[in-house]
Amino acid sequence: MRILITGGAGFIGSHLCDRLLAEGHQVIAMDNLSTGSVNNIAHLAGHDNFLFIKHDVTNYIYIEGKLDAVLHLASLPSPVDYLEKPIQTLKVGALGTHKALGLALEKGARFLLASTSEVYGDPLVHPQAETYWGNVNPVGPRGVYDESKRFAEALTMAYHRAHGVETRIARIFNTYGPRMRLDDGRVVPNFVKQALLNEPLTVYDDGSRTRSFCYVDDMVEGLYRLLLSDEVYPVNLGNPREMTILEFARTVLKVSGSSSPIVFVIPKDERTKDDPQVRQPDISKARRVLGWEPRVDLEEGLRRTVEWFRARVQK
Ligand code: UDP
Repeated sequence: MRILITGGAGFIGSHLCDRLLAEGHQVIAMDNLSTGSVNNIAHLAGHDNFLFIKHDVTNYIYIEGKLDAVLHLASLPSPVDYLEKPIQTLKVGALGTHKALGLALEKGARFLLASTSEVYGDPLVHPQAETYWGNVNPVGPRGVYDESKRFAEALTMAYHRAHGVETRIARIFNTYGPRMRLDDGRVVPNFVKQALLNEPLTVYDDGSRTRSFCYVDDMVEGLYRLLLSDEVYPVNLGNPREMTILEFARTVLKVSGSSSPIVFVIPKDERTKDDPQVRQPDISKARRVLGWEPRVDLEEGLRRTVEWFRARVQK
C-alpha cells in the first residue's frame, strides 16, 4: 500500500512509519513539526519507500499519485501543549481532520482516525467501553482537545455514511515509549527525566488519579490491525493495567534505580482542571475484533523508555 501518515514525525506516528515500512509499504510522513521532530524520522532519510512532506494539515493537502490509506495522527496530544495552543488544537482536530478525510475521499483511500480516551472526559463509567458516550466539559481547558476529537469522530462517521469512505477510529489511551518529547509535559517524560536527573518527581495533587499505560509497540500493532480490519465503529486501544499516579511514580523510581524523592505539587495553572480522576480501557472489543492485546508489561516498557531517555537527558 501507499500510505500517508499525518503527524508522521511525532511520537506514535514515527513508530508507525517504521512498522509500515518494515511491512513493505510505501510511506509518506506529513508533519508541520510543531510538536513532532525530524529526529524521529532522520533514520528513514534516503529509504526508497519513504517520503517526508512538511505541511500543516489544517491547510489543503495535495498528494500526487495514488494513496491506499490515510492515517490521521496529526494532533497536539499533550495537555501542556493544548493548554498553550488551544486554537491550533481545535483547528488540527477539526479542520485537519476535514482535509485528511477530503484527501481520502479524493483518492479512494481507507482512512484511520487517531482518536483518544479523552472523548470519555472525566468518566462516570469505569473501565471505559466504546459504548460509553463520555463526560466532557466543553468549556473547560481540556475541552479544546476533547471536543476537537469528538468532532473528528463525528466527521469521520459522516464521511463514511455520506460518501462511503472506508473509515476506522482508534481511541488511543495513554501511550509511552522512546521518542516522546522530553519537554512534552506529560507524566511519563516528566517522571523519567526527573528520575534520571535525580530531581523530585512532581506528583500533582495527591497522586490518587489513575491511568493505564500502553507501550508504543503494542499501540502500533493495534493500529495496524485496526487499519486492516473491517470495523467502522471506534475501538479502544490501550493497556488495561491501571494504577494511581503515585504508584506510577514509585514504579519509575524502581525501574530507573533513581533515589529521587517524590513531591506533591498543586499546579498553579489549569493543567489539572477537569483532569480525569480515573482511566482504564475496556479492551474486550479489540480482543474480539482484532485479536489484539498488549504484550509488553510496564516494567519492561519503562526499562526501554528509561534507556532511550538516559542517552538524551545526558546530552
Ligand atoms: N501528572 C503528574 N505529574 C506530572 C505530570 C502529570 O502528577 O509531572 C498527572 C496528571 O495530572 C494526570 C496524569 O499524571 O493526572 C497523567 O497526565 P498526562 O499529562 O500524562 O496525560 P493525561 O492522561 O492527563 O492526558
